[in-house]
Amino acid sequence: MKLHEYQSKELFGRFGIPVPAGKVITAVEDIDEIPKDLKGPPWVVKAQVHAGGRGKGGGVKVVNSLDEMKTASETILNQPLITKQTGSQGTKVYQLLIEEGVEIDRELYLAMVIDRAMARPVMVFSQAGGMEIEEVAESSPELVLKEFIDPDVGWVSYLGRNMVYRLDPLPPPETVRELITIMGRLYNLFMNLDCSLAEINPLVITKDGKVLAIDAKINIDDNALFRQKEMKTLDDPREKDPLELEAEKSKLNYIRLDGNIGAMVNGAGLAMATMDMIKMAGAEPANFLDVGGGANEEMIAKGFEIILGDERVKAILINIFGGILRCDVFARGVLAAAEKNEIQIPIIVRLKGTNVEEGRKILENSNLEFLVAKDMAEAAELVAQQVSG
Ligand code: ADP
Ligand code: MG
Repeated sequence: MKLHEYQSKELFGRFGIPVPAGKVITAVEDIDEIPKDLKGPPWVVKAQVHAGGRGKGGGVKVVNSLDEMKTASETILNQPLITKQTGSQGTKVYQLLIEEGVEIDRELYLAMVIDRAMARPVMVFSQAGGMEIEEVAESSPELVLKEFIDPDVGWVSYLGRNMVYRLDPLPPPETVRELITIMGRLYNLFMNLDCSLAEINPLVITKDGKVLAIDAKINIDDNALFRQKEMKTLDDPREKDPLELEAEKSKLNYIRLDGNIGAMVNGAGLAMATMDMIKMAGAEPANFLDVGGGANEEMIAKGFEIILGDERVKAILINIFGGILRCDVFARGVLAAAEKNEIQIPIIVRLKGTNVEEGRKILENSNLEFLVAKDMAEAAELVAQQVSG
């Protein structure tokens, strides 16, 4: 689950990580109140969306008067914000964070994530802040420093010294100390809130030597939401794709992709393999949909409806390996959805496993038209043929 920058910064404050003073507004009218609460000019107007790269996309603007703030706010609120992470349609901005402008001397990068290969939390630090860390890792990997943390031991400040003392040039001693303190606090926040990501890009050193988190990105591990009740209340469903939201409610794993082949599969591995097969056959999947091993008839019907609800979909590939989810249960789910929706696109089916004969019969005896494939490769070929030309 992703948090907004302003939510993340509030949490930073709680854990003792300094951030610039700021205020959230939802309409241009709220701007008249700003000078009472925030020092400035300059101020910075920041779009609150679950996507990075806002600066380059016009979603972060430095302003030097209230009039400029109004113009910038109006522009950002009234047109979809397009960044590298939003797709070409962009995303609507509902909230703005207005912040005191900071005089920046240096921009650093600091983050906590879980390293899957090491099965440990890892802190990542770089003196090349303000840029995308993936790009830094590609072009100058020596600038990306990492320290793995043993969760039984916890944060130990020498880990921070290992990284901070490699800054070139080295900041004055009190700034070095402050950086190491902030590292420890970010670790505490990350562990206490069950984060999957806690990122500060940039973490800046100001002209007067203070250290401040200028940007903040926190993701909470979905699997921990049962015990992170407060975090759960910070969810903003407006940021999600409506079909993804539907799927989430029915406990389906659904991710929207760019193509036009709807795919319904059980099991994440089989779903990945199916995506690959579709691509190898020269077509593009419109979604990833794993109905899961234990899906019931209702979930199958819901999944099928979600695919049908996507108007880009020109053909559907159903690839089911019946195990815990039996093929007959699956077939009944598909029929239930088909009864409610008019289906005008071709459907290709590949069924295998438990009760496969029964499943096939149910589909054959229905008045729906299916193309049945003998294996995965044929299924992918067939579905690709439906959309080519
Ligand atoms: P994004 O990563 O989405 O582009 P950031 O919050 O990192 O958004 O902002 C982009 C850039 O804007 C920062 O790298 C920084 O240079 C500048 N900036 C953002 N907030 C402030 C602020 N409060 N004061 C001064 N500069 C800022
Ligand atoms: Mg940033």
